[in-house]
Amino acid sequence: MNSDITFVLVGTTHSGNIGAAARAMKNMGFNELRLVDCCAHLTKDAFARSSGADGLLKAAMRFDSLDDAVADCQAVIGTSARDRHLAVPVMSCREVAEEWAQEKLNAGPDADAYGKTAMVFGRERSGLSNEEMDRCTRLLRIPCNPEFSSLNLGAAVQVVAYECAQASNRVSIMALDNGKPAKADTEDQDPTASGEAMQHFYEHLQRVMLNTGFLDPDNPRHLMRRVRRYFERNRPKASELNILRGILSATEKPFPRNKREP
Ligand code: SAH
Repeated sequence: MNSDITFVLVGTTHSGNIGAAARAMKNMGFNELRLVDCCAHLTKDAFARSSGADGLLKAAMRFDSLDDAVADCQAVIGTSARDRHLAVPVMSCREVAEEWAQEKLNAGPDADAYGKTAMVFGRERSGLSNEEMDRCTRLLRIPCNPEFSSLNLGAAVQVVAYECAQASNRVSIMALDNGKPAKADTEDQDPTASGEAMQHFYEHLQRVMLNTGFLDPDNPRHLMRRVRRYFERNRPKASELNILRGILSATEKPFPRNKREP
């Protein structure tokens, strides 16, 4: 059972779709469902559409905000049928699945401590809001007919869960074939910074940007959103993030100008 991916449904209005999502997840070996601001989910419709994934449905956790739902996740993947303005990197479902499977393999026995990946699905009518997309580290699109690209919510969960299950199998088979241990590459000994560490970094960066006058609170012009997009496109390693935090902290202290002078 794969518990390092959590499926997050935001603002679902038809409980039958929650049941269909639960069924799709269980079919592919995933078991963790989180609901943000969704309709009641333990309904007749939901149980009927879950076709026996009752346990998964009953264990679903409810949250008031997306932030709370993904607090323990190091990667937050927003899914959308549309191209979004000012969004994080757009990837196909398969690319996201491969990236997740590879990171999981690299993390090896530390995978649990490393944090979960959240796959976030939007409302039936309007998808995810721009603010919710801002919380995401990737945008996942299921490639389909450009003139008819919006899948039913349960179907979208099915495709994402299927790709992740397949990618997980492919990557473990490759590792077995090569006879390599999970942590083969020294690069990978230094894990990618966690989602929580990135959040702290963004808060720190924003504070410095405000204090130095670089960011005008009366005219922020999407600056933080663009900065986040830059760092999420190429997420730093944990050690690299420490350097960046150190630089920020140094700007908050008085500069020792006379240090080298006799
Ligand atoms: N009218 C909405 C579509 C909502 S479909 C919109 O334009 O955004 C409900 C949810 O299913 C979406 O929010 C998304 O999470 C998922 N979904 C549907 N089609 C998708 C696709 N082609 N790629 C990725 N996610 C998709």
